[in-house]
Amino acid sequence: MENKVKPIQQTSASSGHGLIFVTKAFEPPFEEYMELMRGVWQRGWFTNNGQLLRQFEQALEEQVGLANPLFMVNGTIAINLMIRALNLKGEIITTAFSHPVTTICIIWEGCTPVFVDIDPDTFCIDPARIEERITPRTSAILATHVYGLPCDVEAIEAIAKKHGLKVIYDGAHAFGTKYKGESLLNYGDVSSTSYHATKVFHTVEGGSVQTKDPEIFKQVKLMRTMGQFGEQFFTMGLNAKNSEMHAAMGVANLPYLDAILAQRKHQWQCYAQALAQVPVQLAKVPADTEYNHAYFPMVLRSEEELLTVRKALDDRDIHPRRYFNPAITELPYINRAGECPISESVSHRVLCLPLYYGLEDAVIDEIADIIAAAVD
Ligand SMILES: *Cc1c(COP(=O)(O)O)cnc(C)c1O
Repeated sequence: MENKVKPIQQTSASSGHGLIFVTKAFEPPFEEYMELMRGVWQRGWFTNNGQLLRQFEQALEEQVGLANPLFMVNGTIAINLMIRALNLKGEIITTAFSHPVTTICIIWEGCTPVFVDIDPDTFCIDPARIEERITPRTSAILATHVYGLPCDVEAIEAIAKKHGLKVIYDGAHAFGTKYKGESLLNYGDVSSTSYHATKVFHTVEGGSVQTKDPEIFKQVKLMRTMGQFGEQFFTMGLNAKNSEMHAAMGVANLPYLDAILAQRKHQWQCYAQALAQVPVQLAKVPADTEYNHAYFPMVLRSEEELLTVRKALDDRDIHPRRYFNPAITELPYINRAGECPISESVSHRVLCLPLYYGLEDAVIDEIADIIAAAVD
């Protein structure tokens, strides 16, 4: 049986660098991954709290400083489980500027999303606009650390305390960011992150939930295994377990985390410097933040200008991404357009530029030159 697929030759007539996308998954040395697979084969244990999964969780705790990380299938189910574990009802205050799945999880869990606009400098929820949206039915605030930049966690905590609300963070972009010396993922009652292949650090597919609260930890852990422990059934969970193959990718990639973050920082600074004289708005990293440089967002003056820039880059085989367009409020299945004008305006004008381990400085300079010429 011959079913090997020939790889398509990706060459470019117009540039020397081949196709450039917004991101590219980090590849650990093949042999290092295969060595881990050998152990899996020897143990004959492929999933269900295997050795590599436990090893990965321990490394997340010790090396990255996550509080009680629970590795699971992906960063989406992680959000569902957080809402379930906290038994949230009624309204959840959330941001209009995130991946749509942040809101979709709220709705899937039977709650109502209430949208709050963002701070245009950090792209994160604007705490000054939260209190006016709180009602007697509000149970929690679910905010996203957009592009890995920290939400104003202190202001959000103060509001939550005052009104007796839970705080959940969608930290899908935030792995590796530290705030005041501590992993950003340890703020709030509970947080999630994603290890999808497109994120700053990956396990192909994967995610985790972390919390300092032992009760929430216990609930999420049980819900990850269908509410089952051993032969007993305790609660209504779902299957959010992840496999040894995915945990192995995490174990294989973790030794390279510091190198990945260091190179991204350098690349990010190259972009910032090259675009300093160009009339585009760049992200402002808040004080006390060790940023993971997960994305390089650039806000143009108009959507028209964005389309011009994108066309110029496309013509050179460079493909940035419109993260996130449209704003969640504008999605046809949400239908709340007009509620969050800053989110909506930014959504139409923001472009994330290619940023990943291995991207050459010369390509960054080329991208900046193309942008400078296009926005003139
Ligand atoms: C990627 C992403 C998710 C979902 O993570 P998956 O692991 O892909 O399920 C959730 N929220 C945001 C903001 C994301 O970018």
